[in-house]
Amino acid sequence: MLLKDLFRKQRKYATIPSPEAKKEIPEGIMQKCPRCGTIMITKELEKNLKVCKSCGYHYSMTAPERIRSIVDEGRFFEYDEDMVSEDPLGFPEYKKKIKADMDKSGLKEAVITGEGTIGGYPTVIGVMDSRFRMGSMGSVVGEKIARAAGRAVDKQYPFILFSASGGARMQEGVLSLMQMAKTSAALEKMHRNGLLFVSVLTNPTTGGVSASFSSLGDINLAEPGALIGFAGRRVIEQTVRQKLPDDFQTAEFLLKHGQLDRVVPRHELRDTLIKILEFHAYGRETQ
Ligand SMILES: [Zn+2]
Repeated sequence: MLLKDLFRKQRKYATIPSPEAKKEIPEGIMQKCPRCGTIMITKELEKNLKVCKSCGYHYSMTAPERIRSIVDEGRFFEYDEDMVSEDPLGFPEYKKKIKADMDKSGLKEAVITGEGTIGGYPTVIGVMDSRFRMGSMGSVVGEKIARAAGRAVDKQYPFILFSASGGARMQEGVLSLMQMAKTSAALEKMHRNGLLFVSVLTNPTTGGVSASFSSLGDINLAEPGALIGFAGRRVIEQTVRQKLPDDFQTAEFLLKHGQLDRVVPRHELRDTLIKILEFHAYGRETQ
């Protein structure tokens, strides 16, 4: 061996795990961060509100996890829990897919609505769950959100909605698009009653959901790194024939361009919401 070989800088290669190596991580016990590759024990990750300890990546939360992380003592009273989707267009396989998602997620639809207290403030809460038909908005999702807004009006409560959605539900065609108008009208009624609506956009919030209720908050918050947009990047690039910036359609990009009020790390979210509720309650008392 030549002396210079001894001093040659060793190239650092990133190890790309083989498909076999990936399988060695027992499913369910450990989770590998999709951004930095750090492996965390699932229980530890859950204790950390599903945020990667190394890079701060925010994993998706299920609707029940989200509710537990936000309401006081995890106490929550659910609305319309038995409302389930029909198959109005007779779309092939739709009923089967709904059933499969129910079994997989333990949910009846892609949104849970109800009420609880947050920092002592009674609040109507809606949480979407991307495990159910990608959190897509069909008639039931729209109806549950519109009813939740209606309950907020009846009870004079604020409404906080966490969205996570791929957009409108294609299996319900135009009926799913109509939910954009229905939910927007229900929120307008809240507005006319001087009630607070806070939208929290989580990863991902796209399509008809981003183009309706999730952008209509009196205050619009988002989680770090969340993908938020209407059409997909490729579709836009092909349409405008321009390369889009790398951070396009991220929460941070939207904040920079005035479409969000704040990007709030998950660990600060509950306290931030309590502060917002507090300001608002004070405003109402002094009216
Ligand atoms: Zn990470």
